[in-house]
Amino acid sequence: MSANGEMLWPGLGGEDNHGPYLQGGACKSCGQVVLGMRTLCPKCWTADSIVPVPVGRTGRLYTRTTIHAMPSGFDQPYAVGYVDLPEGIRVFAHLEGGDQSPAIGDTVELTFAPLRKDKQGQPGRGPRYRKANMESAP
Ligand SMILES: [Zn+2]
Repeated sequence: MSANGEMLWPGLGGEDNHGPYLQGGACKSCGQVVLGMRTLCPKCWTADSIVPVPVGRTGRLYTRTTIHAMPSGFDQPYAVGYVDLPEGIRVFAHLEGGDQSPAIGDTVELTFAPLRKDKQGQPGRGPRYRKANMESAP
């Protein structure tokens, strides 16, 4: 186990030499991009046409809220929101708090961060967007 904990949803994403990404799939037949891998393209219904592509490295925050009535495993209120990805997908995700917490309309970038603790008190990591560092943006 890494110091930051295990991934809460293995297969949801990963990290390569360009940084963190969400696992997406692109249809070889029609070009449709989806979150996660599928056996059927949801647009053109071609079977076994989805090939893995990284998505969601950046996006734009569509809306957000802060959760104060916390489920077990959380120590303090946390922010969540919907992020519009340039791939045409809207994802629900955790948002970083504090100074790097994004506002609606902000460009955001993906990180993997400890989100909650399991029943044994071990941290689990998952995708969390933060306000993009514009100096490093392309
Ligand atoms: Zn397709």
